[in-house]
Amino acid sequence: MKICKILRIVNLLAVVSAMTAAVAVADTTRPNILFVFTDDHAPHAIGAYNGFLKSVNPTPNIDKLAQEGALFENSFCTNSICGPSRAVILTGKHSHLNGFMNNGNKFNWDQNTFAKEIQKAGYQTAIYGKSHLNGTPQGFDDWKVLPGQGLYYNPDLLTPEGKIRIEGYCTDIVTDLAVEWLTKKRDESKPFVLMVQHKAPHRNWMPALRHLHLYDDIVIPEPATLFDKWEDNAPPARHQEMEIDRHMDLNFDLFVDLVPGFEQEPSLKRQDRSSWHNMQRMTPGQLAVWREAYGPKDRAFHELNLKGDDLVRWKYQRYMKNYLRCIKGVDESLGTLQDTLKKLKLDDNTIVIYSSDQGFYLGDHGWYDKRWMYEESLKMPLIVKWPGVTRPNSRPKLMVQNLDYAQTFLDVADAPIPDDMQGMSLVPLLQGREPGNWRKSIYYHYYEYPSVHQVPRHYGIRTERYKLMHFYEFGNEWELYDLEKDPDELTNLYGQADQAELTADLKKQLEDLRTRYQDDSDVSEKSEEWKKEVRKPELERPRKLDI
Ligand code: CA
Repeated sequence: MKICKILRIVNLLAVVSAMTAAVAVADTTRPNILFVFTDDHAPHAIGAYNGFLKSVNPTPNIDKLAQEGALFENSFCTNSICGPSRAVILTGKHSHLNGFMNNGNKFNWDQNTFAKEIQKAGYQTAIYGKSHLNGTPQGFDDWKVLPGQGLYYNPDLLTPEGKIRIEGYCTDIVTDLAVEWLTKKRDESKPFVLMVQHKAPHRNWMPALRHLHLYDDIVIPEPATLFDKWEDNAPPARHQEMEIDRHMDLNFDLFVDLVPGFEQEPSLKRQDRSSWHNMQRMTPGQLAVWREAYGPKDRAFHELNLKGDDLVRWKYQRYMKNYLRCIKGVDESLGTLQDTLKKLKLDDNTIVIYSSDQGFYLGDHGWYDKRWMYEESLKMPLIVKWPGVTRPNSRPKLMVQNLDYAQTFLDVADAPIPDDMQGMSLVPLLQGREPGNWRKSIYYHYYEYPSVHQVPRHYGIRTERYKLMHFYEFGNEWELYDLEKDPDELTNLYGQADQAELTADLKKQLEDLRTRYQDDSDVSEKSEEWKKEVRKPELERPRKLDI
C-alpha cells in the first residue's frame, strides 16, 4: 500500500504542479469504486466458483470479472441475513455493535459509516436499489432505495424528493438509475463510490419477462444433499422450517396457479402473501406474458400428480430455474454497467466489485433460504477487479468477511480508518500479498429467532479446517465439523472422545474472538422456565401444513 500511496501522491503533485492557474483540480488519481451487490446470490450459483451448477453457467459477465480480477475463495458473512449484512458492510462492525441484528430492526443512520468517512475524504457517493436498513440514508450524495424488500415489478422507490414508482423490472430499473447517475449526474471532478444493490435473486423469485423461458429445456443438476435428513446434526437442524419438501409453498414460492382471483389456502394465511401482492403490481400486459409462460407449465405439473421425492424434485427444478433466471438479470446488469464504464473511459480507474449479502441453500441439505453458519449460507461471493492491481484470474485463499469492506474502501481512498472498525483492509490481498498476520479464524453470530424459517440463535468459529457452533436458546447444543474430511458437514464430531482436545482448543479460540469483537451478549443456556415464559408459543406452534 505504501508504494501505491507514494505513487498517488507523486501523480497528484505532478497534476497540481502542471496547473498554472488556481482552478479546481480533477481528482483522477484515486480509483472509483463500483460495488454491485445482490441479495441471496450463493457463490455456488456463480460459474467461476465451480459449484454443482457450473454446467448451467448463469453468470458469464460475473465469470469474466473473475477472469480479469481476484475471486476470493474463502469469503464469509458475519450474520447470514439481508439487513444485518448491509449494516456490517456500512459500519465495519459486527451486528451487536452496529445494532442491526435482525431484519426489521431500524438502522441508526446517525452512527459512523464508511460512506460518511469516504465522503469526507472527497469521494462522491450514491446508492441505488435495496438498502433494507429502514430510515433515511446518510452518507450518500444521491440515493434511490426500495422500501423494505421492494418489489420485482413496477417497484416504489424512496428518494430524497419522496416516494416514486417506476414501471418495469426492478433489476433493470436499478441498473438504469446507476447508468443515468454515471453518465449525467455525477460530479466528474471527484472520484466516486457507486453502490448498485439489486433485490434479485431474493425470494419470491420473479425473473424478467425476457427470461421466463430460459432453462426450459434443461434439467438443473441436483445437489448431493437434496434428500439430507439431518440425522447426525444437533436438533436445531430438524426444527427449522426451510425444507423444499415440507415448507416451500407451490403458490407462495413457486407461483403455481397464481392467476387473477387466486385465493390462498386459509391454513397458510398467517404467511406473508407478497407473492400475490407482487403479481398484483404487474400491468395487464406483464401479467399476460407471465401467465403465457407459466400456465402450460402449471397444467403439465397437475397432470403429473407428483408425490414424495418426485414432488421435491419438481419443486427444486421450478425453484432453481426461477432463481437462476433472476441471476441472469443481475449478470446482464453487471455487463451493462461495465460497458458504461468503458464508454465513459472510466474502466481503467474503477474498481469493480461483485458480492452478495450472504450465501443460500440451493436445495443443499434439502433447504432454501440462509441464516445458518453451515457453509452454503456462511459463504458470500466476492470478486474484485482493480485495473493494474489485481492479477487476472487470481484466487486469494485467506479468510475474508463483509466486515472488511468498509476498511477496504477507505484504504483504497487513502482515507483515515476509524479505530473502532473491526475488519481488515483487503488491499494487500488485492495486491497479491498474503500478510503473515492475517486472521486464522472468523466469528459468526445469528440472532433472528423465533422468526420465519425457525433457525435458532447460534454463534461460532470457523478456522481454515474446523467449525464449532453453539445453539444456546434451543437447548444447549454444539456442533463440530472437520471441513477437510467432511465438506458437506454431515458428521457432527462434537462429544466424541477423540475430539476433546480439539474441542477445548476451539472453545478457547471462540471465547477469544468474542472478547476481541466485544460480543458480551448472553449465550448461556436458557432455563425451561425461561422458555415457558418467553418462547413457548413460538416453539410449540405447529409446522405449516404440507401442500
Ligand atoms: Ca439476503
